[in-house]
Amino acid sequence: MAPLTPVAERPQTASPSFDVERLRADFPILHRPVHGRPLIYLDNAATTQKPRAVIDTIKRYYEQENSNIHRGVYTLSQEATAAYEGAREKVRGFINAADTKEIIFTRGTTESINLVASSFGRSRFKPGDEIVITGMEHHSNIVPWQLICEQTGAVLRVVPFNDRGELLMDQFEKLLTPRTRLVGVVHVSNSLGTVNPVRQIIQMAHEHGAVALVDGAQWVAHGKTDVRSLDADFYAFSGHKLFGPTGIGVLFGKKALLEAMPPYQGGGDMISSVTFEKTTYNDLPHKFEAGTPHISGGIGLGAAIDYLQDVGLDAIGNYERDLLAYATARLTEIPGLRLVGTAAQKASVLSFVLEHIHPHDIGQALDARGIAVRTGHHCCQPVMDRFRIPATARASLAFYNKTTEVDALADGIRGAIKMFA
Ligand code: PMP
Repeated sequence: MAPLTPVAERPQTASPSFDVERLRADFPILHRPVHGRPLIYLDNAATTQKPRAVIDTIKRYYEQENSNIHRGVYTLSQEATAAYEGAREKVRGFINAADTKEIIFTRGTTESINLVASSFGRSRFKPGDEIVITGMEHHSNIVPWQLICEQTGAVLRVVPFNDRGELLMDQFEKLLTPRTRLVGVVHVSNSLGTVNPVRQIIQMAHEHGAVALVDGAQWVAHGKTDVRSLDADFYAFSGHKLFGPTGIGVLFGKKALLEAMPPYQGGGDMISSVTFEKTTYNDLPHKFEAGTPHISGGIGLGAAIDYLQDVGLDAIGNYERDLLAYATARLTEIPGLRLVGTAAQKASVLSFVLEHIHPHDIGQALDARGIAVRTGHHCCQPVMDRFRIPATARASLAFYNKTTEVDALADGIRGAIKMFA
């Protein structure tokens, strides 16, 4: 390996035009202390912090527009409806979907996948049908399929990955059969950081007559998403990992598929007419949105998308690539530290283990320095089993992180090693 440049000689980042300090000023929470030190927030894969634009939009909604949507003839309700449906249009543009009918608001990635499993899976899967997922899925792209398999007699097949955390594409090819009905794949692994070749995976699924669902929870904040160019059948993500509120997320689905699917939940707003003899359902997207939705959440997500598009997804992607390279170099020079997840294509995530120190102890030692990282199995127990480890410590980056924070992380890890030696 080439010798690393001494820290003092390294540029602050290789993306000097990206004004990280100006952007950090937009995030109030980044300026609070923790244990008397400046907060260093490195748990962005779990949830991201919210810019003032999002906080203010939600505050303004509750102060000026709060009302229930869709059925009100009065001003407040019409304003709230316009704002909520306006947010749907922002989501459509953000992922380049063809039609707002294809944008279903959900509680998050988990509910989006459960919706597809319950509605599409339960109505289509037959005994012996096969669902192909990968070995690096989050539990929320495993368990819903297991539940549907129990109910329908379908069978789950799992694509393995190598020691770097890259999918074995030849094995994937072999797992595709005439019985494959659906392929579910995580766009970016939250435990390994691997960016999967989703375009190729979708194409291969289609060649075998299967539909493809992408779990985009960890991708959408790190680069442009284009569901049409990917040709994804379903694409799921969460607002809170996109600098928006918790409790709101999105399921994109191709219109023809969504139209043919039965409703997921029954209740208000999803119906066209109800009698005790027969109920007919509302048009898309409302057919899949029973009950009063998370109105402020949808509007807040719209504000987050506006904010992110102002910053620019390409600029974010470039900056984060440099920051990840810098962080990878800083961490791998620490004796006894092993990165878990070293794929050639990676985004934002640094999972690691230290010899003789449990990840929870690392997490606590870092917290004492104001540094927030996540420790545990990251809802990916099969990934931990694959590497024969119980857990990792995970630092995950966003565009508001900077190299000095990475330096503090590296110092904190060295401090923990000394403390536990
Ligand atoms: N998939 C991935 C890859 C994730 O990282 C997460 C969140 N950790 C989820 C799904 C679930 O997202 P949510 O909890 O927002 O539904």
